Amino acid sequence: SAGLGPYAGDAPASQALFDRAQAIVPGGVNSPVRAFRAVGGTPRFMVGGEGCWLTDADGRRYVDLVCSWGPLILGHAHPEVIGAITAAAAHGTSFGTPTPGEVALGEEIVARTPVEQVRLVNSGTEATMSALRLARGFTGRSKVVKFAGCYHGHVDALLAAAGSGVATLALPDSPGVTGAAAGDTIVLPYNDIAAVEAAFAAEGPQIAAVITEAACGNMGVVAPRDGFNGKLAEIAHRHGAVLILDEVMTGFRVSGAGWAGLEPVDADLWTFGKVMGGGLPAAAFGGRASIMAQLAPAGPVYQAGTLSGNPLACAAGLATLRLATPEVYAQLDATAATIGKLSSDALAAAGVPHTLATAGSMFSIFFTHEPVHNYDDARTQDVAAFKAFFHTMLSRGVYLPPSAYESWFVSTAIDAEALDVISAALPHAARAAA
Ligand code: PLP
Repeated sequence: SAGLGPYAGDAPASQALFDRAQAIVPGGVNSPVRAFRAVGGTPRFMVGGEGCWLTDADGRRYVDLVCSWGPLILGHAHPEVIGAITAAAAHGTSFGTPTPGEVALGEEIVARTPVEQVRLVNSGTEATMSALRLARGFTGRSKVVKFAGCYHGHVDALLAAAGSGVATLALPDSPGVTGAAAGDTIVLPYNDIAAVEAAFAAEGPQIAAVITEAACGNMGVVAPRDGFNGKLAEIAHRHGAVLILDEVMTGFRVSGAGWAGLEPVDADLWTFGKVMGGGLPAAAFGGRASIMAQLAPAGPVYQAGTLSGNPLACAAGLATLRLATPEVYAQLDATAATIGKLSSDALAAAGVPHTLATAGSMFSIFFTHEPVHNYDDARTQDVAAFKAFFHTMLSRGVYLPPSAYESWFVSTAIDAEALDVISAALPHAARAAA
């Protein structure tokens, strides 16, 4: 239709790969949102990344505003990160023993964030799963409070009302999660302190933990209301429960210390992932030493991993964090603000109802005029408008998250050429969404 750009229509090489993939992988993808179900069309199979550019199997180049769903604050194939991985690989890929690299990465995390002790794992899912087990072991209680629209990975107990992936597929909660696994989960509306007070008034002595995204990025971006996170800590502590602040997405992205660098929160446990692995699989959970001491082999709460603290992942993460200076964060903030404003201005010019939502350098557009403070608000948006917007941007060389319920991510590699491509595409995409 009108407004589509040079990459409109078929993507034959990607489609051929997708056909092969669908024959052997459920839905053709190894993580659901990659399948483009929410927007339709052929998911682009990427063959390379350089700076802020992705190249697909058909040889088309896109400005990348997904950054592997957050990890790549420095862009693709940053020479120092690749150099660190290559140097580590030359010494072997995994030892199953303690290594110097994991000590260095752990020290970097402890130095930057409020955590006193940390344990490395391989994914954000593992981090939240382990933090929850630790909170339950520490308190001797079983219930957990989570918020609708917050995603904490595909942990059984945390898959209730879990935001983006499930919202995109219009799934209710997942079959296969047993009543026993989810029965101790209390789901409350995000940003609603009265609901939290009421839950604790009713079931306080059974609640082990409250888990929340430090700022929500998994129903689109929804920032916590002023004082929300602090109040969660206060209520949890008043009732002898633990606050787990999930910084898998915000950690080392919104500041050098993560969300904690923007707003001090008196949490007990934190989870990290994405940026701290520099594009390789690494994640972590950590917190107060008195709680972490409950973890095996220091204490009785079991947690382990064959590849945890992998030397290549630690090298990539450490290289990334060492390059992540205050100037890097200032640049990420400025670039996010620029792209957010360009997008919002283009939509306004085309008369498209929308709200630009931000949390640090994370941002997304809700296709509704109404302010969005929780998952119910987020779901009032016009997903058909997003779909038209997305495909016009894609056809003009801009790769956005293929769902209206996801954060957009920038890297320091976004340059003037990339901003030109974005600026040129936006008016067409906004008109398509109108
Ligand atoms: N927690 C949050 C806040 C996330 O955004 C994610 C992933 O997007 C996870 C946990 C799960 O991390 P992973 O996909 O590495 O398992």
